[in-house]
Amino acid sequence: MTDIRPIALDLHDIHKSYGSLQVLKGVSLTAHDGDVISILGSSGSGKSTLLRCINLLENPTQGKIIVGGKELILTNKKGELVAKNPKQLEDLRSKIGFVFQNFNLWPHKTILDNIIEGPTQVLKQPKSQAIAEAEQLLDKVGLLDKKNAYPDNLSGGQRQRVAIARALAMKPQVLLFDEPTSALDPELVNEVLAVMRELAGEGRTMLIVTHEMRFAREVSDKIVFLHQGRIEEMGTPAEVFDNPKSERVREFMASHRS
Ligand code: ADP
Ligand code: MG
Repeated sequence: MTDIRPIALDLHDIHKSYGSLQVLKGVSLTAHDGDVISILGSSGSGKSTLLRCINLLENPTQGKIIVGGKELILTNKKGELVAKNPKQLEDLRSKIGFVFQNFNLWPHKTILDNIIEGPTQVLKQPKSQAIAEAEQLLDKVGLLDKKNAYPDNLSGGQRQRVAIARALAMKPQVLLFDEPTSALDPELVNEVLAVMRELAGEGRTMLIVTHEMRFAREVSDKIVFLHQGRIEEMGTPAEVFDNPKSERVREFMASHRS
């Protein structure tokens, strides 16, 4: 059956090498509006590199990236995919929210100032509007009472919820998460997964690199298994978790069963 929802993100044959090391060897992936796609795979399989290529934190060495129907990028320089100019790069990054394992909040700014930075500087929103929206987002992630605190005063789980609110403040078309709970103490994982589950339920388009298998299974429309820079298997959670075609995926699932 053809999927008639608009395509939020389209990756065509993405390659990335560091010198002679080929890390991504042709990854193609389509996310329709509202898709939640979890990317699984062993350490070193290229998951982070793939996410970083999507918003050009790394320049792919080959391939095409289309966001919201527009091929925003790309002009070729040294054979790499790069943005045409700083404006285009800023535009791309404002359409794609990125939540990192280690939060990447500004330590010298308050929680509120961390969130309004992008909306005021990049989207040129009036400060009063940016603050009002930031407060709504902080309320949504349960941290409105921390708006005047600094990142150092927050737990890891709280910092990650702030990082999610900061990404949402840019009203991105796609949210990328790179192991958002891997740096957290186990007792703080669930508060972050709860926020992500809520976002998934709202129909947001999300690509999630995670080792939280139960969560991935529960929230995802599609599971992608990456191995040595290639998609080894892709399918619904039921297909990939219960009935993997690949022996490698089968072994991975067996060793990650909780
Ligand atoms: P994953 O996130 O799946 O663990 P990564 O995308 O981080 O994997 O890394 C994939 C491979 O690319 C690894 O072999 C890693 O050492 C290599 N790699 C990642 N970033 C760089 C870099 N900046 N320079 C050289 N090699 C890198
Ligand atoms: Mg990684």
